[in-house]
Amino acid sequence: MREYQPFSLVVKDEIRRQQRNRCAVCGAVGHLTIHHKIPSTLSEAYGLTPEQTRSRENAVGVCRTPCHDWLDKKALQEHRFYPEVMHEMKKDRWYNLREKIRDRLKIDAMME
Ligand SMILES: [Zn+2]
Repeated sequence: MREYQPFSLVVKDEIRRQQRNRCAVCGAVGHLTIHHKIPSTLSEAYGLTPEQTRSRENAVGVCRTPCHDWLDKKALQEHRFYPEVMHEMKKDRWYNLREKIRDRLKIDAMME
């Protein structure tokens, strides 16, 4: 299993600036966590080099909760990644998306 491939500060700053500190999933403004669309642990299996794993193309800025928790769960447990996972949330308006994600995380936790 490949070791963790952290993004550089340059990449993180660039993403936060380009997104204007707005979460790519729910649209909330605040401190963004820079998420690996394809996580380090899976990137080798999905044909990404270490450089590609920590590249700007594999990075997206999201709020820590609930969106980063949700994306990590989707990626690690279901091998479904941003932006594809957005389709299931697509019909919702931004203002209730965070609640919906929180609900999903609660339901998933109950079923484990
Ligand atoms: Zn969010």
